[in-house]
Amino acid sequence: MKLTPRNFRKLAREEIAKEGQSKKLIKKCHELNVIQEEAMSYYGEQDGQDRARGIAGEIRTNTLDNLLELLVRFEVNASLNGSKVLWAENGDEAVSLIGQIIKQHNIKRVSKSKSSLLEEINISEYIKTKTDASIYHNNLGDFINEELKSPPFHLNNPILNLELEEIVATLHKSIGIPLTDNPSDVASYVNDYFRSHNLKADMSITGVNQAIASTGSILIVENAGNIRIATANSKVQVAVMSIENLCDNLGDAFFINDLATRNSTGQTISSYLSIINGPKLEGEKDGPSELYVIILDNGRLDAYLAEEHREVLRCIKCGRCATVCPVFKRIGAYPYGNPYPGPIGNILMPLILGLNETKHLYQACTLCGACSEICPVQVPHVDLIMNYRNLKANGDRKLDATVNVWNKMLFQSYARAISKRSYYDRSIIGMRAYLNNNANGDYIENLSGPIQSWFITRDFPVLPEHTFQHYWKTKGHLLNEEGE
Ligand code: SF4
Repeated sequence: MKLTPRNFRKLAREEIAKEGQSKKLIKKCHELNVIQEEAMSYYGEQDGQDRARGIAGEIRTNTLDNLLELLVRFEVNASLNGSKVLWAENGDEAVSLIGQIIKQHNIKRVSKSKSSLLEEINISEYIKTKTDASIYHNNLGDFINEELKSPPFHLNNPILNLELEEIVATLHKSIGIPLTDNPSDVASYVNDYFRSHNLKADMSITGVNQAIASTGSILIVENAGNIRIATANSKVQVAVMSIENLCDNLGDAFFINDLATRNSTGQTISSYLSIINGPKLEGEKDGPSELYVIILDNGRLDAYLAEEHREVLRCIKCGRCATVCPVFKRIGAYPYGNPYPGPIGNILMPLILGLNETKHLYQACTLCGACSEICPVQVPHVDLIMNYRNLKANGDRKLDATVNVWNKMLFQSYARAISKRSYYDRSIIGMRAYLNNNANGDYIENLSGPIQSWFITRDFPVLPEHTFQHYWKTKGHLLNEEGE
């Protein structure tokens, strides 16, 4: 499904207007946060958890400081293991490489695993429309979203927003499972269904949770075992990873994975953790005969080279920042129009789509900092968002940011008005007349012109006849130009 953040405002309004929606979302996020906090308590009280975040932060710093060397080392070791490592500059290149692999190996059935990166390149659509192969999702959340034509609701909990009845009703309609209110029965029916498909797939497409430079292996985690079955049985595996998604060694990868798991699903460990070193060796029964690893850039290398954006690449895609974000908790995932709903998408998507295309994302932030505070690898969301806003206000060719002339004029006028006491006083007189003329009783509820949208969800009290300064003067005090 092609996603775009362009409809952010319209969709956000629609979501807010849905009866009970915000309440339900706040409850869901709270429930998930409780489990995540419990999982993090393994590291002790706040101090211990901060220490764990500090270690994870250092591992990510090490990756970013040595990124190019680690990528080369990974490529060399993976190639020595028999994998074929390919590089893709953008999503089009990545899907085209996958198309060529499908053609070359005469692939008829593709099993697709859950991965935000695969949503980012929109691989399902490409395979359906541009190849002769059929594709099906082997993850329950993705499968249901495909049926409902909805984008993922969360990085690792793609149907976080749905109740059990909605899930069962969808599966009953699409694959005929019996109507039940027992989650274990649902899991069992669905697993049987996925397994029968996975056993017939001749190619699996997966993401990569972490690549390990020193061994050339890839680490994949999941909970249902479907990825393991798909990769063990299909003759070809294509694993797509982004350039920053790697570690120096297995120990680092395990540590990062531990924090990612606790902060995403709230588990203490994922049910399945596969380390794939390469294609199957002579005499081995399981595993693909060919393993392709596609390393995707899609704007990340530019971010890496521009140091002020590099910190975005620390992210380990746990999705925790979304469930503490006051905006996400109000509007949910759909308005974001990208596979990374919430704060991480707000800082990642501008690097992929540019600042003009994504302005609603980095503007839809209260700068409360809850995301950075909870982030297990210390991503500084607020600094990055402030930087994007700054670049957008001043224009930036590289990140495709054109200046909004009206905004600029508005803020220039404001800056001039507050630069000197006498200007400020005169502006207040003008503003008072303008605002109060549009009042309905004691409040201004609507206003035409450039700040109209501010009033859609807010009211403003009418301005009093006199300012504080006037009141102060009448009490016998005089202010100088500096207002003292
Ligand atoms: S920015 Fe931090 S909290 Fe958000 S998804 Fe990435 S690692 Fe998780």
